[in-house]
Amino acid sequence: MQPWQWPEKHWRGVVDRVRAGRRLRPPAWKDGARCAIALSFDCDHETNELRDGGSSIGRLSWGQYGSLIGIPRILNVLHRHDVRATFFVPGVIATLYPDEQRRIVGEGHELAMHGWIHEIASVLPVDAERELMLRTADALEKASGERPVGLRAPSFEIGPNTLALAREMGVRHDSSLMAHEDCYEILLDGQPSGIVELPVDWVRDDGAYLWTERFGGLRPYTHPSQVFDIFRRELDAAFDEGGLFQLIMHPHVIGYRSRIGILEDIIKHARARGPVWFATHGEITDWACRTGS
Ligand SMILES: [Zn+2]
Repeated sequence: MQPWQWPEKHWRGVVDRVRAGRRLRPPAWKDGARCAIALSFDCDHETNELRDGGSSIGRLSWGQYGSLIGIPRILNVLHRHDVRATFFVPGVIATLYPDEQRRIVGEGHELAMHGWIHEIASVLPVDAERELMLRTADALEKASGERPVGLRAPSFEIGPNTLALAREMGVRHDSSLMAHEDCYEILLDGQPSGIVELPVDWVRDDGAYLWTERFGGLRPYTHPSQVFDIFRRELDAAFDEGGLFQLIMHPHVIGYRSRIGILEDIIKHARARGPVWFATHGEITDWACRTGS
């Protein structure tokens, strides 16, 4: 049957599988802050190559750059400005770089799940997905000493079973969906799931502007100052509305000498606007659940 032949019951079922539920915008953020700022870093590193079955030495070295240069440079900026963030890490990367995860957690940041090998969840059988999620949680816990309670689906591709499995595992927050700009509770088949969404969007993702695919023809087409300007506009509006500003960056994308200033300038700009609350996704979830309506 073609989509244009679907009966209403069918297309409604497709749409209603995962929806935005209760909006969670608290009347004020912690310590009277006007705006909550959720900086996030997707530490894909080598899994961008591995997840497609590739073994390109050049692309794997680009992944290693994320660990050798990107992560320390990001952590130094965050430390200098006393800012906490959330790092989404595939299980393979936590296993490959346990010291990196220990440093991230040791400096007060949150570690959260980002697939096992950056696999696309929407094509996985349910049993395989469950096993990979458990293995990923184990790998992050083994490296850092903390069981993760947060999730971001690789490439934002939530599968039909992902959120039910996440709830089964005690996951409290997700950051892969795009239905709103405020936090919201995810509805699964029309029922409140108990999982809080901190919504993402490609417009606040460094990869959308600055990624390179040598053979795919994708090139960075936006100047770093323009990327900063887009992020700043998003931040200014979130501040004016008293909302949430959520940002997605990648160590092997933002970590370069010519780009790390985007991160630092965003932090400086936010502080110059007024009272803002830089927090991990977990902390923002806790606050939004306690005070949101
Ligand atoms: Zn990723």
